[in-house]
Amino acid sequence: MDGTRSDTAIDWARVRADFPILDRQVHGKPLVYLDSANTGQKPDCVIAAVDDFYRRHNANVSRAVHALGSEATAAYEGARGKLARFFNVAADELVLCSGTTFAINLVAYSWALPRLQPGDTILLTRMEHHANIVPWQLIAQRTGATIRVVELLPDGSLDLDALFTLMTPEVRLLGLAHVSNVLGTVNPVAAICKEAAKRGITTVIDGSQAAPHMPVDIAALGCDFYAATGHKISGPTGTGVLWARREHLAAMPPFLGGGEMIKEVRFDGTVFNDAPHKFEAGTPNIAGFVGLGAAVDYLSAIGMANIAAREQDLLAHATEELSNIDGLRVFGTAPDKAAVISFAIDGTHSHDLATLLDLEGVAVRSGQHCAHPLLQSLGVGTTCRASLAFYNNHAEIEAFIVALRKVHGLLG
Ligand code: PMP
Repeated sequence: MDGTRSDTAIDWARVRADFPILDRQVHGKPLVYLDSANTGQKPDCVIAAVDDFYRRHNANVSRAVHALGSEATAAYEGARGKLARFFNVAADELVLCSGTTFAINLVAYSWALPRLQPGDTILLTRMEHHANIVPWQLIAQRTGATIRVVELLPDGSLDLDALFTLMTPEVRLLGLAHVSNVLGTVNPVAAICKEAAKRGITTVIDGSQAAPHMPVDIAALGCDFYAATGHKISGPTGTGVLWARREHLAAMPPFLGGGEMIKEVRFDGTVFNDAPHKFEAGTPNIAGFVGLGAAVDYLSAIGMANIAAREQDLLAHATEELSNIDGLRVFGTAPDKAAVISFAIDGTHSHDLATLLDLEGVAVRSGQHCAHPLLQSLGVGTTCRASLAFYNNHAEIEAFIVALRKVHGLLG
């Protein structure tokens, strides 16, 4: 049945075949991997790029004059160039780091800590991941700034009227998810950043869940900082990016000190390297970034717009099927929504559902999804989350629904 619902010319079955892990069996059943919001699976070309780097080019970057050192440096900087093109930004504004968590902490400690003071406000939203909450709490404790929270509408979209009302003169910074990892809500980031800029509010966008699902043109968003994670866009774990406006990077002190981030070190003073290297102390995850470079080449060859359309097709199918299950509630029904479905079934615990689904080969996440404040407001302790990617197919959605009906029956 796969292919019948897709309106693009892409052969999605062939795309799926690029992901070797999807052929696995789990507990004797074919794997149905619906946890891509947690981490994405990797295509052969990414695995091969990492393997080839270690087999043929492995050396440290920037420090060696020998051939392998030059090759490793070219591969690492080449990956930065690929990522810059993928996100439509300049390569010298792109800091390579371990992921969104590191990226947001970098902004918190290098941009916010020296600037915020008592009386200043940090604006966050109810749907933020802990990675876009806890660093700001730490900075608020250190600076005396306060945190204010924008609430959501019943469908899980951001209350934009409340957001704009809360953008008062004390607000210095807005931390905002581009896409919610629990609700799937896609926030109108460009419109929000425009309003923030008018009021002199610095915007930090958590793009962790947007980059896997849609074309992200950071330049068009008008934000100040944008963070994304490599392992959710088919790349290796321990990779990610922080994009920041050149003037911010120039004005920010380094976050971590060490090798690579300096031009000259003397005991009476150190001259730092230029951005982005100023923020890349120590040996980076070179092979990881080589893999991530291969990943964005792969995604670009398919086309992020095609990926978005494919996932919308899968999302519509799954949402329709779930709506026919008695007692099942979906959290997050905003009109602009990525392929992330959080749900709960009355009278069952999400951990029991997820555990029994696993025995059927179906991998979903259960819990609070690193978003305790959001879960507190939903009125459920935990949810199950099925998150889809372009390499899933309609047959897997059918298998998921059959398994869900079975385990619901067992628990009911
Ligand atoms: N923000 C969001 C919205 C996320 O979904 C995640 C990953 N679950 C993160 C931040 C953190 O990403 P990482 O663990 O790769 O740093």
